[in-house]
Formats: sequence, structure tokens, C-alpha cells
Amino acid sequence: MEMKERLKIPRQKMSGQDPKERIHNFQEVPTGLTEEQAILEANRCLQCKHQPCIKGCPVKVKIPEFISLMAQGKFMEAAWKIKETNSLPAVCGRVCPQEIQCEVECVRGKTGEPVAIGYLERFAADYERNQGKIVIPEKVPTTGKKVAVVGSGPSGLTAAGDLIKLGHEVVIFEALHKPGGVLVYGIPEFRLPKEIVFAEVDYLKKQGVELKLNKVIGQARTIDEFMTEDGFDAVFIGVGAGLPIFMKIPGENLIGVYSANEYLTRANLMKAYLKDKADTPIIKGRNVTVIGGGNVAMDSLRTALRLGADNAYCVYRRTRTEMPARNEEIEHAEQEGVKFNFLRNPVRIIGDDNGWVKGMEVMKMKLGEPDSSCRRRPVPIPGSEYIIETDVVIVAIGAGPNPLLTSTMKDLKLNRWGYIVADEVGRTSKPGVWAGGDIVTGAATVILAAGAGKKAAQSIHEWLMQEPGKDGEREWPFDL
Ligand code: FAD
Ligand code: SF4
Ligand code: SF4
Repeated sequence: MEMKERLKIPRQKMSGQDPKERIHNFQEVPTGLTEEQAILEANRCLQCKHQPCIKGCPVKVKIPEFISLMAQGKFMEAAWKIKETNSLPAVCGRVCPQEIQCEVECVRGKTGEPVAIGYLERFAADYERNQGKIVIPEKVPTTGKKVAVVGSGPSGLTAAGDLIKLGHEVVIFEALHKPGGVLVYGIPEFRLPKEIVFAEVDYLKKQGVELKLNKVIGQARTIDEFMTEDGFDAVFIGVGAGLPIFMKIPGENLIGVYSANEYLTRANLMKAYLKDKADTPIIKGRNVTVIGGGNVAMDSLRTALRLGADNAYCVYRRTRTEMPARNEEIEHAEQEGVKFNFLRNPVRIIGDDNGWVKGMEVMKMKLGEPDSSCRRRPVPIPGSEYIIETDVVIVAIGAGPNPLLTSTMKDLKLNRWGYIVADEVGRTSKPGVWAGGDIVTGAATVILAAGAGKKAAQSIHEWLMQEPGKDGEREWPFDL
């Protein structure tokens, strides 16, 4: 197609469920591009020589190459091309913050709208899955080395996938009864259908990865025991950062106060939304108030509406401009009727005589000078307090590292917030132990966690393939 024609094609819009309908179900909101749309969108790509879009992708997906295959209708080949560097394309096509990663670098964005790289990635991956022709790579000769992967989030799944392809024996240990980490227990079904994550896990199992669920490492077994008694040659730790942080305000122990983590886990993993069929109860609440302005807060608000809340209120201490959530998520929440209370800070949660939440006192704020995050600092307005009537409060202000595993490893270096210190390939202070994902970086993104798993897998492989020295030990060049 001529350049002139390419430039005329508008960015394709993905259709989706109507907001009025979708707040009554948990099905995915955007429904994907059609084949015709995918080909049109792929033709918007100018196949730039310098490939600036690749610089924006943490795992360096070969964007122009896969898009060129899509423009020719070679969707399966496009999916394989993406998988050369990204093992979770159906997930990343849906949840990557493309607007600040690959798409922000796209030259078409300089004068108009960038190529919809995420939409195309999602299309190719879904096409491959829906064709049912997923190719299992041929088994490579075994190296005889055994690696334990702790945690089955995107970092652990990616590390396991790469290690098995390199011929190592791989066992994943997961604390919960389902694999997938935040992809399954955090991000709701209406943003990321779980069948997609389970298909990725199945793909790993078909390649020979062993998955052990309900195994809390640190309790069930320690990393030292893995190495001294269970015959593991190396360990990758990808346990995420799922310990909820609370506000430390009065009333947080009342019935009806949840951390976002617990609320979403009950709704997603325990299927609390299946009403009578679910084992796990959840307080539905007529008025649900969520504290925070990130993606986790948006997911909690939209889940509350789907569980039947009359009102879902967002209480955020800055304004919409400073909200850390993706713009798309905020727009979806607005369309669904979430009510935003900007420049408000919770002071206390109020209970009734039986200990149930009945309200929350908030204080009005104004914006002051920028703080260390470069966002304008919220400043309280004394005497502006008032009460919001609410029967459920969800705290979505962040999460931190859980010390359960790390506290059992005395020789593992942690930073002052309790995250594992690791070098650029994930090596920790303990020889033979790598770490990656949120437990190293703090809460980040799926693709960064997957990228960390990838780098660690390569480093583990190189280390395991090294000849041990005269003392029987391999080099461990950790220097941080
Ligand atoms: P996790 O995904 O946290 O997985 C860690 C796994 O380890 C869990 O399954 C856990 O059960 C297991 N585990 C923990 N301790 C142990 C133990 N002792 N023994 C065995 N297993 C253990 N990112 C985006 O890019 N886009 C989004 O739209 C987005 N939305 C989000 C929405 C929510 C609600 C949340 C919470 C996060 C969101 N993120 C998003 C962030 C992203 O999901 C995380 O950055 C990513 O999942 C981190 O991956 P991980 O592999 O480090 O850990
Ligand atoms: Fe963009 Fe994420 Fe795909 Fe990379 S993995 S190309 S950042 S959507
Ligand atoms: Fe295509 Fe945009 Fe990448 Fe250029 S920058 S190759 S137009 S996706």
C-alpha cells in the first residue's frame, strides 16, 4: 500500500459492551478488532527504519515485523513473532500501559494517533489461541539441572517458560490454589478473562513444567531446603508484593473494611460474585467507597458496581490529572457511573453499635507545591471535614512486600522497605538464587515483571552451564 493511503487510514476503534449492560456482568468489556480492522490498523504502520516503538517496549517485541505479517493477513506468524520475546502477548495486549510504553514512541503519534500496537498484539495472540493450533516446541535435550520457581505471577511464569525451553527441569511453587498471581486474583475478569491466563499455564505444563499449588514457601519448605535437601540447583523468586498497606486511621478494623487485595481476591479467585454458589462471602454494600486513584482502585470500584452496589465512590486526595490509573480505566469507570470525590482525604471510618461501617469522615484538600513524585502535594483545608454515608470501605493505596518468605532467608539482602536487592539480571546476594518482578521493583507492571523473569532465566541458564571451579563452586558475581 502507498504511503499516502496508509496515512489516510484512521486508528481503528475496538467495540465493546455498553456500560449499562456491562455493569451487570463480569464479561470482558472491549471485544477486540475484527480481521478487517486488524489488517487496516496494521497498514497504518509506516515500517520505520529506526523502529522507535521497540525502544518503548520493556521486552523489545519486534513490533514492525509482527505488524508487517498482520498487514499480510499472516496472523499466526505474527503471534509467533511476538512470542519470540514476549511469552504473554494476550495478557500484555490487554493490560500493558501502551500509552506510556510502545505507543508513546510511535511516529504516527507525533501528528495524530499512534498505531494501536496493543490492539494488534491482542488480536494476534487471540487468533492463535482460538485456532487451537498452539505449537508445543520440540523438547530439547535435558541439562539434568533442576530449578525451583516460587510464585506463578508473570515473572515466575515467564522464567519457567524460558527455562524449560533451555532444557532444565522446572517446578513452580504457588501459595494459592490457582496459578497466575495478580493476573488471576487481582485484575478482574472483565479486563482480563482468566481462561487466557490458564491457557498460558497449560502451555507451560504441556512443555513439562511441574506446577505445585497450595505451597507457601517459607512455611511448607524453605529455599535452603530446596537447595540442600530437594536437589534444586537454582531458585527464582517471583512472589510479588501483595501485602496490603492501610491508612492507619481510626475505624479500619470495622466490619465492611477491606484491603483492595482481599476484596478483589474474594471477587475474582473465590468467585464471590457467583452469589449463592460461592464459598466465599463478600459484603456487597449499597454504597461502596474506595480510597485511592490507581488501577487497583478502578478495578475495585468497577467490581463493586458489578456486585450490585448502588453507588461506588472514589475518594482521592489529588485531582483527576494526578491519578496514577490508566486513562482508559478511568474513562471506563466514569462511563459505568463511578462517582469521583477528588481532593478528599479520609480522616476516620465510623461504625454502628454492632461494629459495621456506616460512614467515613473525609477532609477537603487543595493542591500545593509539587512533591518528590513531581505531582502537586495535597494540602488539608482545616475545618472542611464532612461525612460520606457508606457501608463498605476498600483501601486501595498500595501494597508492600510480604516478609513471609524473605524472613526465612537470613543471608538474603533486602532494601530498607523489605524488597529483595537484585542486580540487572536478577541475581541476589545468595548464590544460586534469583529474584524478579514486584518483589524487587515494588508494584510495577505485568510486562516489567515478565521481562525480569526472562532476564533471570537467561542468567540462570548461563550460570548452570558454567563449569564449577576447583572448589566445586560456580562464580557468583553479585555486587550491589
Ligand atoms: P504477582 O503477580 O504478584 O505474583 C506473585 C505470586 O507469588 C502470587 O501468585 C502469590 O500467590 C505467589 N506467592 C507469594 N508468596 C509466596 C510464597 N511464599 N510461596 C509461594 N508463592 C507465593 N499491571 C499492568 O501492567 N497493567 C494493569 O492493568 C495492571 N493492573 C493491576 C491491577 C491490580 C488489581 C493489581 C494488584 C496489579 C495490577 N498491575 C497491572 C500490576 C501487575 O499485575 C504486577 O506488577 C505483576 O503481576 C507483578 O508480577 P509478579 O510476577 O512480580 O508477582
Ligand atoms: Fe507494547 Fe506491551 Fe506489547 Fe511491549 S509487550 S509491544 S509494551 S503492548
Ligand atoms: Fe510502525 Fe509506529 Fe513502529 Fe513506525 S513507530 S514502525 S509506525 S509502530
